[in-house]
Amino acid sequence: MRDIDRWHEEEFRRLTTEKVLRLLDGTPTEATLAAAVSGCAEEAEAICSDRPMACTAGCPYCCVLNVAILLPEAMIIAQRLVEQTPQRELDELRKRLGQHRSWTRWMDDEERILKRMSCPLLDQYGACGVHPVRPLACRAITSLDSECCREAFAPVVSDEDRLVPTDLLRKAAYDAAFTSLAAGLLSCGLDDRSIELGTGVIAFLENPEYRELFLNGGKLPQDLWR
Ligand code: SF4
Repeated sequence: MRDIDRWHEEEFRRLTTEKVLRLLDGTPTEATLAAAVSGCAEEAEAICSDRPMACTAGCPYCCVLNVAILLPEAMIIAQRLVEQTPQRELDELRKRLGQHRSWTRWMDDEERILKRMSCPLLDQYGACGVHPVRPLACRAITSLDSECCREAFAPVVSDEDRLVPTDLLRKAAYDAAFTSLAAGLLSCGLDDRSIELGTGVIAFLENPEYRELFLNGGKLPQDLWR
């Protein structure tokens, strides 16, 4: 029987949401939120860790697509950047994130590919600069053929369907981890909205007070979603 036939999405969601609630332990803190986010990633990875993929560090083709993340993911990425990036580089990254946000704000994936609007978090070697805390949505997308990625993400206009063979079980597991995390946040009275990756990260970088606001069950300004 194939792995995908043994996949029980509802059961996975139930157990993973329970794990999130256990880890958040009633009164969420930055530490328990970080544990909950990585706990969700671990649950998904346990489903698909031994499955093949063509993705390797330094292969940046798909890091041009719109990525939706949950607010704690944005908070954790911003925190890591603050802790691990020298001030000058952090200032430059802030600038790149801001420019990327204003350029891509109304772009769909096709335009992003055509204009090669790569994720500002890619490092100079084409690897993810926040790999240990990369979003669940980024972990969900893998390719089984890097040559197909090169063609599919080439910045050229084409009427042909440019498909990439992908691991659907991995995608299903990480998508379920994402919704389980959102369900856990909602149960704890926290904002469970998703936000565009760069917009969320820059919001927490520029406004450290949003951390407290989020942890206290407040809502970040609606402008961020416009
Ligand atoms: S966060 Fe990392 S993996 Fe995700 S799109 Fe950006 S560079 Fe790529």
